[in-house]
Amino acid sequence: MSNKPFILSNKNEDKKEFEAMINATMASFFRTIDHDSAFSGINPYVLRDRIKELGFLPDKGIGFDETLEKVEKTILPNLLRTWSISYMPHLHSPALLEAICSELLIAAFNDSMDSWDQGPAATEVEEAMIHGLLDLFGYKEGSDGCFTSGGSQSNISAIIAARDWYIEKNFGLDVKKKGIGDEGKKLLLYTSEISHFSMDKGCHILGLGYDSVRKLPVDDKCRVDISAFGKMVEEDVRNGFHPFAAVATIGTTDFGSVDDISQMRDICDKYGMHLHADAAYGSGAIMSSKYRNRIGDLSLADSITIDFHKMFLLPISSSAILMKEGKKLECFELHADYLNREEDEEDGYINLVGKSMQTTRRFDALKVFMAFQTRGKDGFDEMITKVIDNADYFWSIIKGDPDFIVPVKPELSSVVFALKDGDEINKRVRRRLLENGTVIGQTVMKGRVMLKFTLLNPNLNYSDFPLIIERIKKYRDMEREGK
Ligand SMILES: *Cc1c(COP(=O)(O)O)cnc(C)c1O
Repeated sequence: MSNKPFILSNKNEDKKEFEAMINATMASFFRTIDHDSAFSGINPYVLRDRIKELGFLPDKGIGFDETLEKVEKTILPNLLRTWSISYMPHLHSPALLEAICSELLIAAFNDSMDSWDQGPAATEVEEAMIHGLLDLFGYKEGSDGCFTSGGSQSNISAIIAARDWYIEKNFGLDVKKKGIGDEGKKLLLYTSEISHFSMDKGCHILGLGYDSVRKLPVDDKCRVDISAFGKMVEEDVRNGFHPFAAVATIGTTDFGSVDDISQMRDICDKYGMHLHADAAYGSGAIMSSKYRNRIGDLSLADSITIDFHKMFLLPISSSAILMKEGKKLECFELHADYLNREEDEEDGYINLVGKSMQTTRRFDALKVFMAFQTRGKDGFDEMITKVIDNADYFWSIIKGDPDFIVPVKPELSSVVFALKDGDEINKRVRRRLLENGTVIGQTVMKGRVMLKFTLLNPNLNYSDFPLIIERIKKYRDMEREGK
């Protein structure tokens, strides 16, 4: 292939060229996946040197074929293979094939979500998917939502909306124009001590600071301690602070534990607070007829974070923020002469930029559309029920094994556990597994190093667990013997 611009047109020769490039890319991909481990185990220093050798920007382009060769030789073999059943450290899933195909269309068309004239069908598909989601999560007329780059952005969007709403309601101040004002400096947000760090990041970005995030203790099931929450809010109000929002985590990143949304709702109502449900992880459970009740009634929350790139198994990125009172999303509305003219919007040309923190934005809704159509309710029900079944099963066998401790029963698909041998051995066992192509998680609970399985892959079966447990014990024995 020549070194030419490679831009698609309707000419047959261009289509043929693109097809050849796609075929070559696929062939290269298939040659690479010749074994079932999650990772090559390569040492980071060695890998860094090899990547450096590939060069940055050659004076003269080497063409697509040679580039692909370089990629196949050095990069692909050392990528993480998310589809491996030996990969279970994070909320990081394998991708459904139909959604990978949709990525090709998303990139090839390269439509953008900011204005209707940059993505006509894209805008309408996203809106239709958002309306379906509002309905799925029990939101009524007047609610609204938008796709985002991830759970972090969804959470931060919710906090911005809550802050602006609260300050306007209580102090009559338009935050968009005037900033947060003096009283705004006394705003407080409540969330559990094991909630996601995007709350801290968000409050920093919003000019409130980390100290405005009040961390609530958790009970023995790793859920917000409701009576502590009530007491803390009451005391903060007495001291002149303004509790403006609380975040219920529906599936904590480590434990998959689920805060009690209805009890948190009561406290938020009492103090006029916005309640956000961070369901980046747990939202997937809504698809499981067997386990749906474990996440509670999310329609009680004023806003919901959904990540499709976790339990829903879609390629990164695909996420959404849903808002019960759609008007709260107007915090992102701003009119630019070149982009989202008001007269166009009156004629039905909706411009989604007005609901988003981003301007140029990917058509990630297509992945959800194609996966939902392909699998249907029953397909998702089966996959998501299976991974939660797997976690329940793994928990039940490891709980009965005297070599391990298992502090909490899983609600979703994560199991946190540890070898009884102490922190050092647990850390070293995880490292040995990594070097040998099995990637598991590691975290800390009450000062103790813990191992973690985050089970998102529906190809994993009950019969795979004994083998993994055996491998963990083998590395533990080698560590004990100093081998
Ligand atoms: C993963 C996660 C997030 C962050 O989502 P990203 O898509 O990684 O930005 C937020 N909250 C919880 C509970 C999560 O598990």
